[in-house]
Amino acid sequence: MELYEPLNVIGSGSFGVIRKVRRKSDGKIFARKEIDYRKMSERERKQLVAEVNILRELRHPYIVRYFERHIDRTNSMIYIIMEYCEGGDLAAVVRKAKKQGDIKPDNVFLDSQNNAKLGDFGLSRLMDGSDFARTYVGTPFYMSPELISESAYNAKSDIWALGCVIYELCTLEPPFQGKTQSQLAAKIQRGVVEPLSRDYSRELFQFMREMLRVKHERRPCTTILLEHPRIRKCLHLDD
Ligand code: ADP
Ligand code: MG
Repeated sequence: MELYEPLNVIGSGSFGVIRKVRRKSDGKIFARKEIDYRKMSERERKQLVAEVNILRELRHPYIVRYFERHIDRTNSMIYIIMEYCEGGDLAAVVRKAKKQGDIKPDNVFLDSQNNAKLGDFGLSRLMDGSDFARTYVGTPFYMSPELISESAYNAKSDIWALGCVIYELCTLEPPFQGKTQSQLAAKIQRGVVEPLSRDYSRELFQFMREMLRVKHERRPCTTILLEHPRIRKCLHLDD
């Protein structure tokens, strides 16, 4: 761990903090998850080991890359070195956009390749380390109908969640909300989504609605999604 120079804390997870670090050999920046395993039960420790073992197998441009782990037995700490994602997490983007008002065309900028980028967050800038990811008091906004009715989870449940993310990125609110858990569950199981504002295309709304079909069999699978010309373009799949 002496190979990395600790910089500021950029987030907090369930078992410790995430810190920005600089590799001394080449100056490269990484994110380091610092986990104190003393506070973990035996079961949680096993789960962590299993997670790390899965992570290290995954190599994909759109999955946060895992590099290495170090175990410091004297201080019962596990350090996981990962790719540093400069833009932070999506929930923070939504929070910032909310603080400012809304995501509107005036605040979306296009780079030379026409990639859309959010900008102009006014004074609500992230201050180093002070914007700890607020602990989500587990409201399962993205829970799928099948998870509620049959406690069953499958790949289409992720498609449902993706539909929810797209909706929230457009409106800054999750598509299904309720004052109580059961109210939320009822809304999810009815699956009625408010249309998006006119600022968004019908195509996008349709697309999202297909992902939010109550019957999971009717939702598109990733293969179908990846055939869509618009998605292929966004992911530069035909370049
Ligand atoms: P947990 O598994 O406990 O939810 P996360 O891995 O989600 O912890 O990390 C908590 C927060 O730390 C994230 O929401 C994000 O703001 C920040 N973070 C985590 N990993 C990275 C990363 N690789 N690059 C940049 N920020 C990160
Ligand atoms: Mg998290």
